[in-house]
Amino acid sequence: MTVVWFRQDLRVADQPLLQRAASLSRPVLGLYLLPDHWLQADADGMDRLGPAKSAFLLESLNDLQAQLTQRGLALQCLRAEPVTLLSHWHARQPLQVITAAAQAPEEAAMIAALRQAGIRVIEEETQTLLAADALPWEGSFPATFSRFRRKVDSRDGVPVSQPDGPPPSLTAAQSLPTPPFAELARELLAKRGQHWQRNSQDYFSLHGGEQAGLQWLDHYLFETRSVDHYKQTRNRLIGEHYSSRLSAFLAWGNLSVRRVWQRILDYEAGHGANPGSEWLRVELLWREFYHWSLREHGARVFHYAGLNDQAPRRPEPATSLAREYWQRWCQANTGLPFIDANLRELMATGYASNRGRQNLASFWVHDMGLDWRRGARWFQHYLVDDDVASNWGNWAYIAGVGHDARGGRRFSPTRQCQHYDPEGEHLHYWLPALRALSARQCLSLHFSFGQDDPLTDYPAAMLPLPAADLKLA
Ligand SMILES: Cc1cc2nc3c(=O)[nH]c(=O)nc-3n(C[C@H](O)[C@H](O)[C@H](O)COP(=O)(O)OP(=O)(O)OC[C@H]3O[C@@H](n4cnc5c(N)ncnc54)[C@H](O)[C@@H]3O)c2cc1C
Repeated sequence: MTVVWFRQDLRVADQPLLQRAASLSRPVLGLYLLPDHWLQADADGMDRLGPAKSAFLLESLNDLQAQLTQRGLALQCLRAEPVTLLSHWHARQPLQVITAAAQAPEEAAMIAALRQAGIRVIEEETQTLLAADALPWEGSFPATFSRFRRKVDSRDGVPVSQPDGPPPSLTAAQSLPTPPFAELARELLAKRGQHWQRNSQDYFSLHGGEQAGLQWLDHYLFETRSVDHYKQTRNRLIGEHYSSRLSAFLAWGNLSVRRVWQRILDYEAGHGANPGSEWLRVELLWREFYHWSLREHGARVFHYAGLNDQAPRRPEPATSLAREYWQRWCQANTGLPFIDANLRELMATGYASNRGRQNLASFWVHDMGLDWRRGARWFQHYLVDDDVASNWGNWAYIAGVGHDARGGRRFSPTRQCQHYDPEGEHLHYWLPALRALSARQCLSLHFSFGQDDPLTDYPAAMLPLPAADLKLA
């Protein structure tokens, strides 16, 4: 039998795994595995499966199951270490596995171990725009995004192949018995997601799954034509259509990035290309850049000293101070309203704007002075759109150990807030206790280190900001 092992590609349309399964003419079983190690906490107590993420993943699996059931196929969703489970099954009934090409080293190791166990594993590209056998650069991987973009986006356009057609018809295989060391994944996800409220008041959020993703894509592009203002609004912090909100659908593969790209081209064919649609495609190339960078650089993406083997220069704070910083960060209680508002949003919803994420990462690395990898793991727990390549790539970039030609970026949280949330709309939404204060008054709290504010109960800033930040416009 053929096991189609879905990972970050939870969809049936434009699904090379199913197309490949059809060519093998054997009964097919769909499988999703929640790896055990995602549930193991690191030294800080963080695992890889926070509440919003669990809920979105569960919705994605439910939708995938519905799509497969319509086609007469079964989907088994289990929590188990993939190599242990698949080897166990293979020992009882020979099987072959079709799955996405490995990106992170841990995935490559799993696939290698399966092959060692005698299982035939077929890898297909399911997550990228470009095909591995037609990469438009020779030799070493482009060191910066601009070089990558120049290579990829030539005069003939980005070489993206057409999305695959509708899923082929396949013969179903029977589900396999769940061994005692495995557990039903859906129940576990439901338990983890149950205390998470999708719609806290009027906050905008999306449901997971291929159908939800397809609807949202059409709504965003064609019904509301929000892409037209994407270039002007993409750096905002709050609202429904300021950016595309495609990230979680792409991270879980509810939508293939090829399909998204194709729909943007369709939009441009019908309504004309504009700076918004063109810029949205540029952002998709950032995702592409980090995906191929991860494949190229492997384990180095996760090293403290990064791609160039140069550790960040800034010394870490003393242990007791580092512990205090960590605790206050986890409680979204740093005393800096702009940071706290973004932390609250991320922890409550699993999402924060790109601007918010950049500022959080910058504050972590350049102001708190903590190891950037702990920050990346903290994000990984909460983000509903957690994508290993994009998350670690962006963190390394800001820490100055990744692809940034400038060697790291510090953002002034105060100036950033003044610029991107001038009326304090985002601040007031997430920090209701400060609603009586103007945006400017809120920001003056950024400089309250060592002095509790008598007017509000807001805690004093947990650290002093550099003097250059003091100037409020
Ligand atoms: C520290 C940090 C961590 C991040 N972690 C993730 C992550 O785990 N998963 C993730 O998808 N994005 C991550 N990003 C990138 C970016 O913040 C999100 O993709 C974006 O905010 C998602 O919202 P959107 O879909 O509305 O984005 P849009 O602005 O509408 O962009 C469209 C799509 O382009 C891609 N994209 C945009 N910006 C980036 C970028 N800087 N890097 C890679 N891809 C990008 C995403 O797929 C996104 O959905 C991170 C950024 C930072 C600074």
